[in-house]
Amino acid sequence: MRRRIVAGNWKMNGSKDLSEKLVGDVRSEAVSLDNGVEVVIIPPAIYIGDVVKQAQGAVSVGVQNVGRWQSGAYTGEISPGMAKDSGCRYVLVGHSERRQLFGESDEMVAEKVSLVVASGLNAIVCVGETLEERESGQAEAVVAGQVRTGLSSVSQGEWQSIVVAYEPVWAIGTGKTATSDDAQAMHAAIRSVLKDMGAPAEEISLLYGGSVKSDNAAALFSEPDVDGGLIGGASLVAKEFMSICRSFP
Ligand code: PGA
Repeated sequence: MRRRIVAGNWKMNGSKDLSEKLVGDVRSEAVSLDNGVEVVIIPPAIYIGDVVKQAQGAVSVGVQNVGRWQSGAYTGEISPGMAKDSGCRYVLVGHSERRQLFGESDEMVAEKVSLVVASGLNAIVCVGETLEERESGQAEAVVAGQVRTGLSSVSQGEWQSIVVAYEPVWAIGTGKTATSDDAQAMHAAIRSVLKDMGAPAEEISLLYGGSVKSDNAAALFSEPDVDGGLIGGASLVAKEFMSICRSFP
């Protein structure tokens, strides 16, 4: 009943040629998937028009970031309305790289989520603790705070546009993955925070991200509260990415 989603976040990688090849390969396999998973490609924004055209609706497309405004004098920014207009269905909000490298706070995440949802798009809101926070026993409290503040602007009736991605910062691009037990425990904790916020928690898809590969995806996706994945490095190789998309029980 919850949407199964596997989203490939290319980050600032690729080229026009790679993008064409990758989308073609992903699309040709995605059309024959029969496990109900929605495959999402999140390329660098400059390639979105081409990717949407090529995906022909068989693969959904997302953008890695948007600004906090719908239009105006914000050189270099793109708005949620523009992402929608260009054929996107998803927007990543609050990825840990945005938080760490570009100073994105939970309050900024909340502003973006509000605009994204109002623009008719789905927000994939990223949360996750650092290694230090995990080692000092604060992981759940940190993540709960990110969920509460980052989603504070969501009103009843808007929750169906929200997806949460749990990405422990120490697992991103490091080859270290949370164990499936740890991922399940955090996902269950996130679901209970959502419930506490008055959200229809059982209907909200929770994705795990952080060094997901074809050889660990099946264990993660078989956990009851893990509804899919947010994939970085492994989404740049079509065969590997599609094998992750097939890893549901
Ligand atoms: P990774 O990245 O799969 O390369 O660890 C995940 C992400 O940052 O979304």
